[in-house]
Amino acid sequence: MSKFDYQDLVCDIPDYPEPGVIFKDITPLIADPQGFSAVIDELAEHFLGRGITKVVGAEARGFLVGAPVAYRLGAGFVPARKPGKLPREVISQCYALEYGTDEIQIHADALTPDDKVIVIDDLVATGGTAVACAQLVEQAGASVEGFGFALELAYLNPRDVIAETFGQEVFSLI
Ligand code: IMP
Repeated sequence: MSKFDYQDLVCDIPDYPEPGVIFKDITPLIADPQGFSAVIDELAEHFLGRGITKVVGAEARGFLVGAPVAYRLGAGFVPARKPGKLPREVISQCYALEYGTDEIQIHADALTPDDKVIVIDDLVATGGTAVACAQLVEQAGASVEGFGFALELAYLNPRDVIAETFGQEVFSLI
């Protein structure tokens, strides 16, 4: 359970980006100096002392949370991006969306087999993005040590989806 009361800093936006969806807007949280530092500190503290060498975060909001967590851990940050965004050789992972599929990539040399990696994102919904990131880590021969999120939409059971593929723990603040 979190030490900080984040609830007032996350807005529910009904019918965005399409009818029937309630979008969780975390921009007030990261705009709030205490809220932002609490999110980063709590996520980083959780994974501190485990020898984490790299944090992988998915475009684009995963960068906002993942990069400062990596800094706090003394780790490197690896951006997972949409196809066509990274300039050098990449490895790719496709994953299912509600309708259709999507793909994310990291640079082929971004991780080595010695790396101990966590996947960090602002929010986990179905778990598809996080699993795809972790599969990229495995493709690179590195080890997935865990998953951290500011928000978890628990009613979508992302923990079950992540646990099916990866036994590692899932840590969420909200
Ligand atoms: P998942 O792949 O279904 O778990 O969706 C998680 C990804 O979609 C993350 O990268 C989030 O940034 C983004 N996402 C999905 N739903 C929301 C939301 O309600 N608010 C903010 N981001 C969301």
